[in-house]
Amino acid sequence: MTDLPYRDPSLSPAERVEDLLARMTLPEKVGQMLQLNAMDDLEDIVSHRLAGSILHASPSRVVEAIELARGTRLGIPLLVADDAIHGHGFFPGATVFPSQLGMAATWDLDLVERAARATAVEAAATGLHWTFSPVLCATRDLRWGRVNETFGEDPYLIGELGAAMVRGYQGDGLTDPTAVLATAKHFAGYSETQGGRDATEADLTPRKLRSWFLPPFERVVREGVRTVMIGYQAIDGVPITTSRWLLQGVLKDEWGFDGTLVTDWDNVGRMVWEQLVSPDHAHASAAAVDAGNDVIMATPGFFEGAQEAVADGRIDVRRLDDAVRRILRLKVDLGLFEDPRAPVAERIEAVVGSAEHRDLALDVARGSLVLLENDGTLPLDAGRPTRVAVVGPNADDPHAQLGDWAGASGQVSWIRDGHPRELTETVLDGLRAVAPASWEVTHARGADIVELGPDPDGTHFPDGQPRPPAALPAPSDPALLAEAEDAARGADVVVAVLGDEVALAGEGKSTATLELQGGQVELLERLVATGTPVVVVLVASKPLVLPGSVRRAAALVHAANPGMLGGRAVAELLLGLIEPTGRLPISYALHAGQQPVFYHQVRGQHGTRYADLTQRPPYVFGEGRSYTSVEYADLVLEGDDVAADGVVRGRVTVTNTGERPTVETVQVYVSDRVTSVTWADRELTTFRRVPLAPGESVVVEVEVPAEDCAIVDAAGRRVVEPGEFELLVGPSSRRDDLLVAPFRLA
Ligand code: BGC
Repeated sequence: MTDLPYRDPSLSPAERVEDLLARMTLPEKVGQMLQLNAMDDLEDIVSHRLAGSILHASPSRVVEAIELARGTRLGIPLLVADDAIHGHGFFPGATVFPSQLGMAATWDLDLVERAARATAVEAAATGLHWTFSPVLCATRDLRWGRVNETFGEDPYLIGELGAAMVRGYQGDGLTDPTAVLATAKHFAGYSETQGGRDATEADLTPRKLRSWFLPPFERVVREGVRTVMIGYQAIDGVPITTSRWLLQGVLKDEWGFDGTLVTDWDNVGRMVWEQLVSPDHAHASAAAVDAGNDVIMATPGFFEGAQEAVADGRIDVRRLDDAVRRILRLKVDLGLFEDPRAPVAERIEAVVGSAEHRDLALDVARGSLVLLENDGTLPLDAGRPTRVAVVGPNADDPHAQLGDWAGASGQVSWIRDGHPRELTETVLDGLRAVAPASWEVTHARGADIVELGPDPDGTHFPDGQPRPPAALPAPSDPALLAEAEDAARGADVVVAVLGDEVALAGEGKSTATLELQGGQVELLERLVATGTPVVVVLVASKPLVLPGSVRRAAALVHAANPGMLGGRAVAELLLGLIEPTGRLPISYALHAGQQPVFYHQVRGQHGTRYADLTQRPPYVFGEGRSYTSVEYADLVLEGDDVAADGVVRGRVTVTNTGERPTVETVQVYVSDRVTSVTWADRELTTFRRVPLAPGESVVVEVEVPAEDCAIVDAAGRRVVEPGEFELLVGPSSRRDDLLVAPFRLA
């Protein structure tokens, strides 16, 4: 077979693809479009359904599948895909970074790019060609189970962080053996849930999509992302999977995307059994192919459905060929015909979980911590012998620390017990490791979070997927509480590590409430009542509603799901071995009923509060404290009349007025004073991270191109409207925190 043109690397990719396409039968073409779950019967997937791609292959099954593909009639190599979304989380021993929400808190594009690069290096060594990352959904409702997978709530920050990850994954281009394909997902509007419930119809208009949901996708398309995943939801009655407007019109025609589209898990089947918009797989397959999808994930019935639809003329074979061409092109570009990129034992040994990658994971974890409150208790004085009581359900829980899509989080079968325990340093481990020898570190769990029980609606979904267990709040346990209280009484400081756990996060695991679950509220109340200073560390998948007792705590640290080295990073922060530099990429709510709390709300409502509660969120986007103090002064613009194609240029002086160094995240927002249609009061348009030594003053230059001051008008066009604007510069999205400089756009 080596003499066939499609196997000849001296021919152009297009020639090879055309040659191969011309040799393929209809079942081979339809099979090529399939991406099936490698935890199912591999023979059936690769040899009978002729799948062109697999996902969720265990380390041993990757090898088996690649061999099976080699044995098919044309020997077309497989594309091997998985969710390596904050590290190669399902490969035993791989480096697990903080969740995307954690990474976002670093606001450090270079660091996030390097985390994605390291993930790609590990993933590629294990035979993975494609990762389903980054998530570009903007968090809207905190009750949604997938908040942890997002970069938070701001479209600009999401786009920049997403682009950084794409650069990291795709490396120097696909011929680089350490490159993996990145995926921009979930296109688009999936996070606009109803009531936080997962994958509901999204109440979005085209204009709203263009205003806040599409920009991050457009940004990473410009960055060269090779694949885009289609969200589960429908908008205005149309499942995105069949939206010609979004897929063909916006993505391909307007933005010039010429990469590959993949559906999300069984999107095609869901139209038949869940959304009930197709009578059978033939109809659903035809609609998906027609709209422009290329790879059909986890719908085995597409194999028969699409062939049936071709036979009765509902699928245009030219569109089918177009899809197959794109898939084959990816395989040629990756060089898979020459080298199927199977796992390489020596590479795995050398790079997976390497010391270098673990150091990087520690750096990302350090940067991801956000100090939200501090009465001066932090940093703890390492010079004074101290008794620390480390308390709380997440103080020593490796799974909660890694979060979703890693180890035991439940999506795959081969790592049910999680990563080897010694690879994860919990907060307890971290404190034991970094505390001075004169310190005494004790531990008490104090409370449980949830109890798992069978889902009353049954063990499986209609498509045969297992339902996750139902998570019910664990009752307070008097013995655990008493033990924790004793530990607190006998200590100089309490570190209370609270939060949620994987049973309360992820797909199909939205929460109705945001409160700390189980015995945690009572635990915190009892701890602060002892009078010992309590430092609360939140290891949680999303911002949670904190009980009133937190106001009597000494300090509060937001730690998201900080990854394998997260506990070490927390310990270093508490002891002042590092500075708190993370800033919230997402706002907290005071009560679940305050939803939504993202900062860039559209102007115009009666009043500013609920009758029974403030509307102000307790902690907002951009917020975070340092161990030092930083002052902003003298915001001046170079000129306050700016041309339509010009740039707003200004400078601001930031001064470290305290005694410790820091890296200040200088945030720049723009407010358009009067808009032709309602719009957000202000939006982040750029930011700078500025290192500041104690006492140091730095003049920070700020530049905002006039085109970045655009809004989306009533016709759905992104336009800059001339008139009065404000440039707002400061340390958070709160108006009170921002210096203001007015300017006019001509
Ligand atoms: C999720 C995607 C994920 C895919 C493959 C889906 O259920 O929505 O984000 O990439 O599964 O695991």
